Amino acid sequence: MGKDKSEVNSSAGLRDEGQSRESVCAGSIKRETRKPRLKRINRQQLVMRPMDVEQLVPEDHEVRAIWEFVGCLDLSRYYEDIEVIEGEAGRPALDPRLMISLWIYAYSKGIGSAREVSRLCEYDPAYQWLTGMEPINYHTLSDFRVDHKEALDDLFTEVLGLLSAEGLISLERVMHDGTKVKACAGADTFRREERVRTHLEAARQQVEQMGDPRLAEEVSPRVAKARQRALREKQQRLEKALEELKKIRACKSSQEEKQEARVSMTDPQARIMKQSDGGYAPSYNVQISTDAKEKMIVGMGVSQSGSDYGELVAAVDRVEASGGQEPTEVVVDGGFTSRENILAMSEREVDLIGSMGAGVAQSAGQLKRRGVDQGFYPEAFHYDAVRDTYSCPAGKILRPDGEEKRPGRTNYKYRACAMDCQACSFRQKCCPQNGAKGRSIVRGVDAPEVAAFIAKMETDEAKKIYRQRGAVAEFPNAWIKDKIGLRQFRLRGLVKVGMEALWACLTYNIKQWIRLRWRPQWA
Ligand code: SF4
Repeated sequence: MGKDKSEVNSSAGLRDEGQSRESVCAGSIKRETRKPRLKRINRQQLVMRPMDVEQLVPEDHEVRAIWEFVGCLDLSRYYEDIEVIEGEAGRPALDPRLMISLWIYAYSKGIGSAREVSRLCEYDPAYQWLTGMEPINYHTLSDFRVDHKEALDDLFTEVLGLLSAEGLISLERVMHDGTKVKACAGADTFRREERVRTHLEAARQQVEQMGDPRLAEEVSPRVAKARQRALREKQQRLEKALEELKKIRACKSSQEEKQEARVSMTDPQARIMKQSDGGYAPSYNVQISTDAKEKMIVGMGVSQSGSDYGELVAAVDRVEASGGQEPTEVVVDGGFTSRENILAMSEREVDLIGSMGAGVAQSAGQLKRRGVDQGFYPEAFHYDAVRDTYSCPAGKILRPDGEEKRPGRTNYKYRACAMDCQACSFRQKCCPQNGAKGRSIVRGVDAPEVAAFIAKMETDEAKKIYRQRGAVAEFPNAWIKDKIGLRQFRLRGLVKVGMEALWACLTYNIKQWIRLRWRPQWA
């Protein structure tokens, strides 16, 4: 009597709390007396287990597909280089089929380091299955990757032959594109001639001092040999850098630019190129041609040029060399659509489909830079085809003033009388920088092949084909960068990065074959 509701609840709450405390105490006593029994880890024991190497990977593991595919290829170019002969003394050589399979499998997993592949051969079941549990030295792996340039080119052609025989390549429609892959060199390794010569002189002196017996005594013969090799390579690289600097200078137009030219001391053949994110980095331009049928790569080349304009003809040559015939149709983006390329493709009877690149479309940028008002652009001038003259917005006549022939186009120049322009009230809008000579305009006449190309690209059919370009041409580029991880080369120099890119393309093609032909049989 007299207790309010809250007091009752509060005393009840205390009772509950007291009870739960007791049970918790009882529980903890129980836990203290009952110790859990855990399985002990015994790292002192020696274990011997029988291992069936064949069972290391399941039947449908892709490493078996790679082994099977490589086994179907003619590897005689690789076997030619092996000096150890059956029945004679000498350590047996590693089978090129194994080395190729190892690299293809490693690249397919995004591994491009020889040391890493060597490590994986020690414990990864797929690598162990390939090698039969035998270790492989990383030097052997590394040398094999770059030692057989011609054999690797042949291997790529062989693979294309197999894919073609399986109906995966038609060469009817080939989509071509370029992508920049960063070089194995930093932007801070670029130096002007003076600095390169200083470093070269220092390297030469170091090489000369190598023969000093006092220095050789300080380290082991193995270390001394490694140092000597590194110094010789450094000297060769710097000599190469001076050669490359001459080539870089030859591409520069002004004397000032030639003086300022710089070259990488780490990878002299790399060039600073614009990247897709708008930045600049030492890179190579990897050109990939992809067959539209099943997105197989049918041609690959590496260039030092940051621009794609000059790469199309070489790309078609490569497809012809590796595929045995020219593609019927080539689809490219605006970076390749120059008048020169249109003429070259027309001469080879290759049907070119491409967007109207800056090389074909007329630009108003130059007039804008000269300060010409939009109302006085060439469209505002009337052409009289009978008299072959133009009349300007002020009604004055512009007469022929020479012509300039360019590949795929002839430019006819017309000029107004200087006195007319000087007296004209529109002068500041029409020719603000050229009053002394009188305003001129250019009438460009495209070659028939270029005119036909422009007309073709206006049709719905051509536009429809062009719309497929991105999905086909950019797919292998993205795959090679994302899956194989080839965003930056591990090797240096044009030949070696070309081989690295070719390994990536081979892997891409074999992976597509696994997806399209090998995998379905296990589905
Ligand atoms: S500046 Fe010369 S070309 Fe231009 S409108 Fe005047 S007269 Fe014609």
